[in-house]
Amino acid sequence: MTAATASYNATVQLNQLTNADLHSHSSVSDGTLAPEDIAARAHAQGVELWSLTDHDEIGGQQRARDAALALGMNYLTGTEISVSFAGETVHIVGLGFDADDAALQAGLAATRSGRRERAQRMADGLAQVGIAGAFEGALKYVSNPDLISRTHFARFLVESGACADTYEVFRRFLTEGKPGYVPHAWARLGDAVRWITQAGGVAVIAHPARYKFSPTAEYALFTEFIAHGGRGVEVMTGSHSTAEQARYGETALEFDLLASRGSDFHSPGESRTELGSLPDLPGALTPVWEALAHRVHRATG
Ligand code: AMP
Ligand code: MN
Ligand code: MN
Ligand code: MN
Repeated sequence: MTAATASYNATVQLNQLTNADLHSHSSVSDGTLAPEDIAARAHAQGVELWSLTDHDEIGGQQRARDAALALGMNYLTGTEISVSFAGETVHIVGLGFDADDAALQAGLAATRSGRRERAQRMADGLAQVGIAGAFEGALKYVSNPDLISRTHFARFLVESGACADTYEVFRRFLTEGKPGYVPHAWARLGDAVRWITQAGGVAVIAHPARYKFSPTAEYALFTEFIAHGGRGVEVMTGSHSTAEQARYGETALEFDLLASRGSDFHSPGESRTELGSLPDLPGALTPVWEALAHRVHRATG
């Protein structure tokens, strides 16, 4: 039995009003704080149940869990898997899985594998519009060499004075049709859901309002996700307006999905939504953390 398994506690009391933040990033992916520093910040913000959900990567899980437990904060393992579906990139958050699961680890490694070459092609595209040295520039912000992301390019373009903030970078350079955008084949939806669920976790559709789907394609996403074993959807996220929170609350009820809540915090200077600061889930919804009580790592004593 691993230390991780030993710290599971099925008696942990969780409810609708638990301040859960189940979506955040550290410097192990595209956040700027170390896992220990996000843990401290989450705790200081009143978070009672936290998950670090680095993109396509679980290398920070042990540090995050140990830091959370040392602070007396409950912890769920987490990741955010990049998926290609119907011509869009969709993010699937996994929660409460066994981080030692070999198939999950192999799937995440395969999903990460094309990032470096993609980044070189992004830099080529930027060079063609007069922005030189973007690959080396972005790398200065990368702590995990396997995980060079658009966010690291955005930080370089802000630092070099090309743009005022990262939002402007994405709008002008890093989204579809713009010079630094490179289409990429990520994981398949069914594979991502299976890696998570077969490792004992729950798969959740991240920030559904962010995708540019037709109603038909969005319906296909939800029905195929559920058919593959997906069980949750983010309702409260830093990416949703109040209207979108209400809309995806309705969607959760319509598809009988568990509801999640997470800030998607990346960095003190960049993120508009603070850890632990979103509204509580509406009472009609079932929080995903109620279904994951048996997977929570809890500080004992
Ligand atoms: P990647 O996985 O390399 O495609 O990078 C995706 C990350 O870029 C997301 O997780 C966000 O952190 C960030 N991102 C994507 N779109 C935007 C946007 N429009 N504005 C700011 N950040 C964004
Ligand atoms: Mn990100
Ligand atoms: Mn995302
Ligand atoms: Mn995220």
